[in-house]
Amino acid sequence: MNIILLGPPGAGKGTQAEFIKKQFHMAHISTGDILRQAVKENSPMGIKAKSFMDQGALVPDEVVIGIIQDRLQQQDTMKGYMLDGFPRTINQADALNEMLKGLSSWDQDRAIQHVVYLEVPELELVQRLQGRAAKEGRVDDNDETVKNRIKVYFEQTSPLIDYYEAKKLLRRINGRGAIEQITKDILSVLS
Ligand code: ADP
Repeated sequence: MNIILLGPPGAGKGTQAEFIKKQFHMAHISTGDILRQAVKENSPMGIKAKSFMDQGALVPDEVVIGIIQDRLQQQDTMKGYMLDGFPRTINQADALNEMLKGLSSWDQDRAIQHVVYLEVPELELVQRLQGRAAKEGRVDDNDETVKNRIKVYFEQTSPLIDYYEAKKLLRRINGRGAIEQITKDILSVLS
């Protein structure tokens, strides 16, 4: 099974990704994690990405599209993969379609079957992210960056809701409430 996790920053994608991964043994591909690792290692990609991430802006499409392109060629994704934090723009989603079709291993088994959309009201997002800033010390969780990430989400990422709805791939999940309940809702949609 191949899926996309979609939702605003602070929706709980990372938390739910851990449960889904255990259940279905799929490759977990988080562009945020990959970028943070690159920043830590001071690699050329990390150096390029850092200023965007610190401001809560999107890293340029060609960078993240490159990450996904490389990652989807690796063997472990053949048994299923979960994209977490990608795509984040319509352009990235179009690029994903094209690259899946272009894979040497292409067949229907490589296609996306579900886009799990975690829905959380905007006001709650701000509160959650500010809580996380205090707890985990992520530099991009400070007040101003948080506001910008949410703004960027509504402007650039939320159009993907309609995009995947039109492709009949969207699965809406209420992202409020107990973590276990949300996990249950996701698993029931996927099974
Ligand atoms: P969150 O979903 O909590 O905002 P992520 O870990 O998914 O956090 O992403 C952190 C940052 O990494 C984003 O604010 C952005 O700068 C960058 N990033 C991650 N994925 C993408 C992507 N697909 N396109 C552009 N930038 C990305």
